[in-house]
Amino acid sequence: MALINILSPHVADLIAAGEVVERPASVIKELMENAFDAGARHVTVEVQNGGATLIRVTDDGCGMAPEDAGIAFLRHATSKLRDEHGLEAISTMGFRGEALAAISAVSRISLVTRRPEDGEGTRLTLLAGEIQEMEAVGCPSGTEICVRDLFYNTPARLKFLKSDRSEASACVQAGLRCALGRPEISVRFLRDGKEEFFTPGDGSPEACCYALLGRELAKDLLPAESSEEGLSLHGFVSSPAAGRGNRSAQYFFVNGRFIKSSLLQSALEQAYRNTLLTGRYPACVIWLEIRPGAVDVNVHPAKTEVKFSEERRVFSLLYQATLDALSRENRTEVTDLPVQDTDVFLPLQKPAAKLPEKTLYESEKPVFREAPAPYVMPQRQQTLFTASVPGPVDREEERKKPENPSSDLPLPPSASPVPDHRIVGEALKTYIIVEMGEKLLLVDKHAAHERMNFDRLKANQQPLHAQQLLLPQTLHLRGEDFELSTENAELFAEFGFELEPFGETEMILRAAPEDIRPSDAQASIEEILEHLKEGGRPDPDAVRDELLHTVACKAAIKAGWNTGWVEQEKIVAEVLSGRIKYCPHGRPISVTVTKRELEKLFMRVV
Ligand code: ADP
Ligand code: MG
Repeated sequence: MALINILSPHVADLIAAGEVVERPASVIKELMENAFDAGARHVTVEVQNGGATLIRVTDDGCGMAPEDAGIAFLRHATSKLRDEHGLEAISTMGFRGEALAAISAVSRISLVTRRPEDGEGTRLTLLAGEIQEMEAVGCPSGTEICVRDLFYNTPARLKFLKSDRSEASACVQAGLRCALGRPEISVRFLRDGKEEFFTPGDGSPEACCYALLGRELAKDLLPAESSEEGLSLHGFVSSPAAGRGNRSAQYFFVNGRFIKSSLLQSALEQAYRNTLLTGRYPACVIWLEIRPGAVDVNVHPAKTEVKFSEERRVFSLLYQATLDALSRENRTEVTDLPVQDTDVFLPLQKPAAKLPEKTLYESEKPVFREAPAPYVMPQRQQTLFTASVPGPVDREEERKKPENPSSDLPLPPSASPVPDHRIVGEALKTYIIVEMGEKLLLVDKHAAHERMNFDRLKANQQPLHAQQLLLPQTLHLRGEDFELSTENAELFAEFGFELEPFGETEMILRAAPEDIRPSDAQASIEEILEHLKEGGRPDPDAVRDELLHTVACKAAIKAGWNTGWVEQEKIVAEVLSGRIKYCPHGRPISVTVTKRELEKLFMRVV
């Protein structure tokens, strides 16, 4: 007896349906995409009971002629693709002619549709893909598709549906993704009769984001834009201060289609390196427009994965656009303020100018490195430049504060204009208070200095200077730590830590980066080992940045320390120039309080 059967079209449809229609949310996506392809300007989506009992999508698009409506539910029935040549440049959301066939195979459907040019429309009902009734009706132009009792004839699928509530939120999410892809189309989404969202459809990206993502997220978005030959993108990326706990607010669209892409995700996230706290993720809405021939959407039936033919170009376009957006944010803070040249502060700089030539941004070796003196534990407060040659302190100001000998340092060669301001003082040994026009600025001195150190170390891009320790230190390391530090000895050496195994569990530390105090060396190494243990960091640049974070942090003035006046000025100048805004871990460096906010607190105004 023969064993092979040819499956009936109905069974074949049921099998295929499983790929396209996984849950109610997939139906929403397919029907909305059909409405968009039909040129609709307004689309209404309704779901009841998580979509299991009813999904209705109504549009004012091109509608269907009666004869088209009759075959639209057949498998491979599509008006969007004629032959294989069309496959190379798909410009519509659909093209496979599968969705209506798949949905109708597992539900009861009623369709009402009319083309604007026709006098009357068509009403059609289907059960498990078979047409039950078809008649002419009077109806508005456009299409309304109503899907009832999804999976009523596939109990296995039905059983896998989650609660109404979670299916409903998946439906809303699917609707939101479609709507966000097309700001020029107005979408209203109703869940159990209640409006979930409404987009105005005026083509404004801001309005669309605001309507769909809410004020909280929208207010933190920075515009991003870039284009080159055959490729363009626009949209928004979140401010580093608004990092999120997961990636669910990363929305990427290619030619209006929501996609998941590890390529775009890493282009985005790499641009945030050193500005975002670890474990925090940026949000974004990026609309990428690309020649249809340069992207293959036919990777999977749900079409959420795509293949770019020029991955490198796409990557760098987004990476650069994100970097630009973030650096523009850094500049906006001071644009509304009166700007004066740094020359205003010259009287303060003059005494410093006589001191040893070493600046924050200097990459040449300072004098003392050529004739290294033995490293001694600094007897005084940590300064902006650890172990720099103590210079003469000839300012009245400084003599009054013997605990701040560090203020003898030259200001950075700041070329950028700094807005007019006055340093009021320091509070809680942590925050520098600055008065500026109608605002007060609170600057976290540690965070600011950490950022300055980090940028300086990173800009140098050369091995950090090792300083031989007068007394080598013995580090006791537990099993894994010992292994890791042995394996990465070379990496540590690049950063100025000279480590040598001693027995089975101990390491001798002979040298440490000169930017940090020897007493901080062990803690720094432990911190770096922690980061290495987190693992999954094959990217040497990322590891390097981690090491720089640690060194920058350890070399920075700390909260709780007294900080000299000139140092305060230097930090404030750097903050006001707009060059630094977040510490390398993503914490903000300054916080602004406006006069108006204060007046509100004091109820001077309401
Ligand atoms: P595809 O979208 O891949 O072409 P579908 O099964 O989703 O396949 O739809 C089949 C066809 O039905 C479409 O090509 C289109 O011609 C027609 N159609 C479906 N939905 C609509 C609609 N909302 N308005 C007008 N025509 C529609
Ligand atoms: Mg379709």
